Amino acid sequence: MPDAPLASGPAGPAHLRPLLDTVLTALTEGAAARQGPLPAGGPTTVTEHVRRTVGHPLPEHGTGDEEALTTLVQLLAHGAADPADPLCAAHLHCPSLAVATAADLAASALNPSMDSWDQAPAASALETLVTDALAALVHPSATALVTTGGTEANQLALLLARETRAPAILQLVTGANAHHSLQRAAWLLGLPEPITVPTPTDVLDPTALNDTLTQLPKATVLVAATAGTTDAGHIDPLPELADVCDHHGARLHIDAAYGGTLLFSDRRRRLLDGLDRAHTVALDLHKLGWQPVAAGLLTVRDRGETRALAHQADYLNADDDIHAGLPDLLDRSLRTTRRPDIFKIATTLRALGRTGIGALVDQVCDLASGFAHTIDSHPRFELYARPTLSTVLFRPHHIEDAALGRLRRTLLTDGHAVLGRAHADGRLWLKVTLLNPHTRPADLAGLLKLVEGHTSR
Ligand SMILES: *Cc1c(COP(=O)(O)O)cnc(C)c1O
Repeated sequence: MPDAPLASGPAGPAHLRPLLDTVLTALTEGAAARQGPLPAGGPTTVTEHVRRTVGHPLPEHGTGDEEALTTLVQLLAHGAADPADPLCAAHLHCPSLAVATAADLAASALNPSMDSWDQAPAASALETLVTDALAALVHPSATALVTTGGTEANQLALLLARETRAPAILQLVTGANAHHSLQRAAWLLGLPEPITVPTPTDVLDPTALNDTLTQLPKATVLVAATAGTTDAGHIDPLPELADVCDHHGARLHIDAAYGGTLLFSDRRRRLLDGLDRAHTVALDLHKLGWQPVAAGLLTVRDRGETRALAHQADYLNADDDIHAGLPDLLDRSLRTTRRPDIFKIATTLRALGRTGIGALVDQVCDLASGFAHTIDSHPRFELYARPTLSTVLFRPHHIEDAALGRLRRTLLTDGHAVLGRAHADGRLWLKVTLLNPHTRPADLAGLLKLVEGHTSR
């Protein structure tokens, strides 16, 4: 038998310690070799480097733990788009907090699985406690299901809506600003093609929604609004949309995958007024929550609705076990084997507290607001809109969309900056999504210089 030390058990920590040292050294060396927010050279160079370094990915005989970790961790770090670099700011791709990552190591070491109590005694109790506390930020009586992110949260929201409205056929209505995962969820669940309300102002207009709902049969509609759009970080007018939904007897889901953690901030919580009126809310702590992926939640206001997910499988929740008091976990997810993603979240909440997380949220939103101001007063750049969250869309004056698209790709392939892109107002814009609380205005001034340099070429 090969030497295969385990991560848990009495000797687990002793086995892990030297390997962790190897990992940390390789992370340092890989990042140093990269010298920037992402590797230079673009996809061909990176793929070639990966193939050359790895050779055959399933060797006949292994190289041993030390060598494998050194080689592959260096490869990963060298080839990473590192969200901790101030110029890696394209997507809702956050740097993870050291405390959350360290907690996730404990979860990996012990490997609890959240599908039955006898695989996760404390982890499952912790999940109940923490999800209820997080759900209470939205609504006092709500519970929350742990998901792999906003996508799964949106799917579950549609599923719960479908089940509560059955046998009527659920009709999803969204704004054109909604996340693409809602469309796919409707497709996955066999629902009719969603109705998309145009959003020329980037947010879902209550009057336009009202006009749409007037033409639909009552009690069959799910409206999905957005609190923090993916492109521009805008928040739909939630209280007014909730009024329209109430008037038409429509169910309301709010996709707050991006904006939901404003709930932690005393200064910004009011932007989410109306969130408590939704039946379900999607939240993502691997965005403005600084968790390693995955860390999603769906809050469910009427906790009885999660019974729609209930299922019986003798090996996980036998009747006599449940009668004898073993908790039934199967109505918490559609997944079976499931990581204890709540653990890193629980540890982060305890370490930072509500105000600590709120301060990080305020930090990146303030940074975005300052950056927008800089752009607005800059002679060579145009600002799309004042940011609500931490996304800023901008473009150099007098540039064609195609040239702007090329500029973005050049910054990527040179390894100099990771910027996003978004269409708004009929034009293409560069997008920065600021999720790094350590980024400083000077870093962003450097970014503008970099873009300026490429514009005048
Ligand atoms: C990111 C995002 C999603 C998808 O979430 P994942 O965690 O990537 O699955 C859904 N909706 C909005 C508004 C988002 O920003």
